[in-house]
Amino acid sequence: MKIGFVGLGHMGGPMCANLLAAGHAVRAFDIVPANVERAVARGAVKATSVADCVAGVEAVVTMLPSSPHVRSVYIGEAGVIAHARAGTLLVDSSTIDPLTAREVAFDAAARGLPMVDAPVSGGTAGAEAATLTFMVGGAERDFEAAKPLLACMGRNLVHCGAIGNGQVAKICNNLMLAIGMIATSEGMALAAKLGMDPKVFAGIVNTSSGRCWSSDTYNPYPGVLGNAPASRGYSGGFGADLMLKDLGLATEAARTAGVPVLAAALAQQLYQKHSADGHGGKDFSSIILQYLKAAP
Ligand code: NAD
Repeated sequence: MKIGFVGLGHMGGPMCANLLAAGHAVRAFDIVPANVERAVARGAVKATSVADCVAGVEAVVTMLPSSPHVRSVYIGEAGVIAHARAGTLLVDSSTIDPLTAREVAFDAAARGLPMVDAPVSGGTAGAEAATLTFMVGGAERDFEAAKPLLACMGRNLVHCGAIGNGQVAKICNNLMLAIGMIATSEGMALAAKLGMDPKVFAGIVNTSSGRCWSSDTYNPYPGVLGNAPASRGYSGGFGADLMLKDLGLATEAARTAGVPVLAAALAQQLYQKHSADGHGGKDFSSIILQYLKAAP
């Protein structure tokens, strides 16, 4: 296929590379020229603007930081919707709020452009290895049309229902992940402070009712799991500021839906403090530093 790819950052860069590796012809655009050059080095054609990127393509994939960026890339005189040929399939894989996803898709439909929201989980490692999970919202036929393209970049392709539902799945999962990570951090830090060996305690939790992904796969206490970010100074992984962003999306969506999310609001504030303390660039499991006396 001829594909236009906008947003070649930590995730979009390797995702674009996997489309190229699968034999697709990709026009690549990013506001950071070095990111475009990296894609060109892997076989993409350099585009000089969003309009240039979507010229003559059959599908457009976007991987942008958040809702305002998605609005600015899709909507307006210089945007995707104004310049893509009618019938072009639009796939937005950014994590954004469900309402923006629905509004942009509505504008796209008015110009005969089918659209799906397709946020991902799996992180940069999943993007490199083409093993991402795609949570897809949109009409069944548009999901089917997007499948071959998504399969070049991911392993699990899940249709979540109508447009915006991919974002719903993504932000609600991350709401649970943030709260789970904070609960694990609190329990681990307290057990250690009360005199338990963190490894022994984690072993007990992981065969008991406190077990969760944050305790058995991604434990935040340094040294408990050799391959977790906690054991390499919280480098790599999923940034605390990205988690803060997703908690903002979840609490805002909850506000519009009239659903109280008390634990998520507390988690958001804790991550806000963590970011203000200068830890936003560290992996999100570093939230345990809020409980440990000094950085390990
Ligand atoms: P990133 O900041 O590394 O990449 C975003 C790219 O978009 C940048 O290269 C930026 O220059 C480009 N961009 C911004 N505005 C633009 C515009 N107007 N026109 C063209 N390009 C523009 O972010 P990322 O880590 O790749 O994340 C992208 C999305 O994926 C986010 O929504 C994030 O929440 C989500 N996500 C990230 C991860 C992760 O582990 N990094 C995991 C899952 C989901």
